[in-house]
Amino acid sequence: MASVQIRGIQKYFGGTHVIRGVDIDIEDGQFAVLVGPSGCGKSTLLRMLAGLEEISSGEISIGGRVVNSVEPKERDIAMVFQNYALYPHMTVFDNMAFSLMLAKTDKALIKERVDKASSILGLGQLLDRYPRQLSGGQRQRVAMGRAIVRDPQVFLFDEPLSNLDAKLRVQMRAEIKELHQRLRTTSVYVTHDQIEAMTMGDRIVVMRDGVVEQQGKPLELYDRPVNTFVAGFIGSPA
Ligand code: ADP
Ligand code: MG
Repeated sequence: MASVQIRGIQKYFGGTHVIRGVDIDIEDGQFAVLVGPSGCGKSTLLRMLAGLEEISSGEISIGGRVVNSVEPKERDIAMVFQNYALYPHMTVFDNMAFSLMLAKTDKALIKERVDKASSILGLGQLLDRYPRQLSGGQRQRVAMGRAIVRDPQVFLFDEPLSNLDAKLRVQMRAEIKELHQRLRTTSVYVTHDQIEAMTMGDRIVVMRDGVVEQQGKPLELYDRPVNTFVAGFIGSPA
């Protein structure tokens, strides 16, 4: 089980109060989307989930375990970023295998995991290529492959598609959703794009200025926005 509970989270950077009391519940297997304008605190919250940013106060649990003082690599999560920096001098296979190699995973298991991920992602024919020989979409798939091979309890995505052109972005949204339908791994996906949020999320969390304005199913937010900000942001009829 890998539900995610975020309880009373606050974050200060020096004197700046960036996350101001956030509670979020994500069920096991859900695809949750955190959406809100640039600067509202989405990445900070995701980085706290990943253990890459200290929590000022509050509690985060993953799979029922409080992880506040658990090191990032012990949290059983994998993150996909917007700047999916692949290692240029490594093949697709090695790019995907690298974190497992660092963790001294058994060679046969590494091969099994990379083969499985590359077949899911349609990268089976490209394992010997180098990043420069790949299209933007293929590179994005390798970046996802690196997360999948770790077989985590939770995927975290931070605006993974924002560097892609519009057509590829639409295609990759569908691919990420298919991937989720196949693996059913609990996912937290951050975007500032309302359409991306509404088309991808099982659960939508609308943030503004470090607080959650509303969370629920896409249709609930659309039909019953709690305030004009949510209505305007989601594009509900006024
Ligand atoms: P989002 O991802 O929603 O665009 P961020 O989480 O990146 O928002 O940032 C939220 C706020 O926190 C912004 O005002 C940003 O300037 C500030 N912030 C983020 N990281 C730091 C940091 N390391 N030091 C100081 N302020 C930061
Ligand atoms: Mg961000």
